[in-house]
Amino acid sequence: MRFDLPDLPDATALRHDVRAFIARHAPGWTPEGRARSWMGFDRDFSRALGEQGWIGMTWPREYGGGARSAMERVVVLEELLAAGAPVGAHWIGDRQSGPLILRLGSEELKHRILPGIARGELAFCIGLSEPDSGSDLASLRTKATRDGAGWVLEGRKIWTTFAHLSDYMIALVRTSPAPEGGARHAGLSQFLVDLKRPGITIRPIRDLEGHESFNEVTFDGVRLDAEDLLGEEGEGWSQATSELAFERSGPDRVLSSFPAFTAALGALPPEAAPQAGRLVARLATLRAMSLSVSGMLGGGEDPAVEAALVKDAGNSFEQALPEALRGLLDPEARPAELDRMLGTLTMLAPTFSLRGGTREILRGIIARDLGLR
Ligand SMILES: Cc1cc2nc3c(=O)[nH]c(=O)nc-3n(C[C@H](O)[C@H](O)[C@H](O)COP(=O)(O)OP(=O)(O)OC[C@H]3O[C@@H](n4cnc5c(N)ncnc54)[C@H](O)[C@@H]3O)c2cc1C
Repeated sequence: MRFDLPDLPDATALRHDVRAFIARHAPGWTPEGRARSWMGFDRDFSRALGEQGWIGMTWPREYGGGARSAMERVVVLEELLAAGAPVGAHWIGDRQSGPLILRLGSEELKHRILPGIARGELAFCIGLSEPDSGSDLASLRTKATRDGAGWVLEGRKIWTTFAHLSDYMIALVRTSPAPEGGARHAGLSQFLVDLKRPGITIRPIRDLEGHESFNEVTFDGVRLDAEDLLGEEGEGWSQATSELAFERSGPDRVLSSFPAFTAALGALPPEAAPQAGRLVARLATLRAMSLSVSGMLGGGEDPAVEAALVKDAGNSFEQALPEALRGLLDPEARPAELDRMLGTLTMLAPTFSLRGGTREILRGIIARDLGLR
């Protein structure tokens, strides 16, 4: 495991541009919305961001991308997260579905899908978890069976973030039974599922905060075309797990509570400076680790264990931050906007270490790499 810091380009001008763009849009955002951060879904905002060239930034120009560096992309992500911008409509497409299609899709598929993501027009969701298969993902039972040239999909996914608002899901499903007594990871494949196909029922599930952001998705005889198979039949497990490094290592695993942090800094009493300084120092270390993984991903490596470490350490920080800030602030002097953010974050924070893989599972991956299990 290693965390070399990549060369950071001088991105002052880009940072300035993103901040100016955010300043034009931010007046309409509520404190609760800003606290929801990348769980906020706003297609108009994503489209506006796409017009700036800030989605699919690293993809080749021929697929609608900007051919920019991984580090320039990180600058844009950091600024959006720091402001609590509603980036959910393009987040999954930009972060992992687009890169997956770029790596595994046919030329036809890349030309058909990637420009739409980059314009902020196509929203994606991730179909991994099932009612009895979360951490033990390889036990999933949704299956695709060959039917002529295509496939028929049967089964159920759950906790699928934004399925009810998305255009496509990338689903991991079983295409052949696991070998008797063999690796249960064999026989899984990934499909691009157009959510408008007949036979798909999407039922939103209300969360603790009263929002409908994740869903139960049922597939009842859904017909898929041969071209909907992504990558190789039977290679779904290794394809999906390499995608997880994109999902687990970005600044979104560190900065979910950051808008409340900046709102709190101006209201802290002078005697809270040492504790606030310690929080900033911890954040700076986490940022360096996340940048290191972004650099490795940009260089075509597969830093799965480093990504698991960033997610676990980052989630612990962003999860503890709301309570830490409450402890540092005089309740009487707490600005109303900050109070509203902290209220939302208190309900959301428990999910930070569940979504994208739980703390126990990540620590298991890290322990295995360290030779501890
Ligand atoms: C806000 C949110 C958004 C989500 N979005 C999506 C999405 O878009 N797409 C998607 O596919 N899924 C999504 N999920 C689902 C998420 O990935 C799963 O909740 C997570 O993987 C855990 O699975 P589970 O809920 O079945 O819990 P379980 O796997 O049943 O785990 C329950 C508890 O047991 C622990 N545990 C399980 N196995 C072990 C083990 N071997 N060793 C030690 N402890 C263990 C877990 O750590 C956990 O604490 C989302 C979840 C949340 C909270």
